[in-house]
Amino acid sequence: MTNVFENILGLIGNTPMVKLNQVTKDIPATVYAKLECFNPGHSTKDRIAIHIIEAAEKKGLLTPGATIVETTSGNTGYSIAMVSIIKGYKCILAVSDKTKPEKIAYLKALGATVYVCPASVPADNPRSYYEVAKRVAAQTPNSIYINQYFNELNVDAHYTSTGPEIWEQTQGKITHIFACCGTGGTLSGSAKFLKEQNPDIKVIGVDADGSILKSYHETGEIHKEDIHSYQIEGLGKNLIPGALHFELIDEFVRVNDENAAYTTREIAIKEGILGGYTTGAVVQAFKQYSAEHTFSKDDVVVLIFPDHGSRYITKVYNDAWMESQGFNRNCVHNYEEVFKTEYIK
Ligand code: PMP
Repeated sequence: MTNVFENILGLIGNTPMVKLNQVTKDIPATVYAKLECFNPGHSTKDRIAIHIIEAAEKKGLLTPGATIVETTSGNTGYSIAMVSIIKGYKCILAVSDKTKPEKIAYLKALGATVYVCPASVPADNPRSYYEVAKRVAAQTPNSIYINQYFNELNVDAHYTSTGPEIWEQTQGKITHIFACCGTGGTLSGSAKFLKEQNPDIKVIGVDADGSILKSYHETGEIHKEDIHSYQIEGLGKNLIPGALHFELIDEFVRVNDENAAYTTREIAIKEGILGGYTTGAVVQAFKQYSAEHTFSKDDVVVLIFPDHGSRYITKVYNDAWMESQGFNRNCVHNYEEVFKTEYIK
């Protein structure tokens, strides 16, 4: 039987790539999007959840009824909860009280226990979500703390899956890879594999305006003055993640909330791909990069699209939210025409 699986986890990985035909048509390269929303948990994080949990099982760290702990309100939490169900583990997630109720509902729908912790306290306060997760993991026998920002198995998950898939899907023709960096695991692991095959492949990291990753890459120093709050979730950081291998990255491109938001919507309208906010960020970064670098028709560019737009329906795909951010540009795709709603009474 083909395309039939023992359980949902059999669907993780082997995500498809599709050519972008409109949003990047002025750039003379072949551009592919790797659609990580085709994972069963709808994001790239399924790969690290199964990889890290199975590595712990192999080491004998987890036995039936074990508990998996992580600090996340986003895609990683969803993936860990999904893997935990199939493997019979308990999943405890510590999230900040800034997390939207619908996100908490997603996690609980998959059986996770969710601790909501105050966002306003410093990271070393016993009530912070970092400290709560650490404490729960330390006090719970037969448990592991995923710790994705500082776990080399996060990188390894992509080194053993995403990287080889891209190499095979492009038949070794890839010349550039672009990916958003949060933990840095997706890009570091993929780049490590790809550069081993061809050291000339250009690796471009995408960072957020408000994060320190780009300036740290360029100077080796943390520029605290770069830090400010921003809306794109999952991209950029105010600390240096251990899972981000800066030496594998040729260049970082920084994108802002507004450009990434419009580009996210442009991709939906022009390519029919309802991506998450960082999908817009990676395409926006490619556009900015191509304004400063020359591409040829033989170049093969892969952009990682990390997750699905259904998680952003109340945010970037919501006109009122766009307006609340001051994003009321009548943009290239006739914003008012395309996004208007008519109520028939
Ligand atoms: N996009 C989204 C929506 C994410 O949740 C993440 C993970 N933080 C990323 C991009 C970046 O992936 P990574 O952590 O592997 O760098």
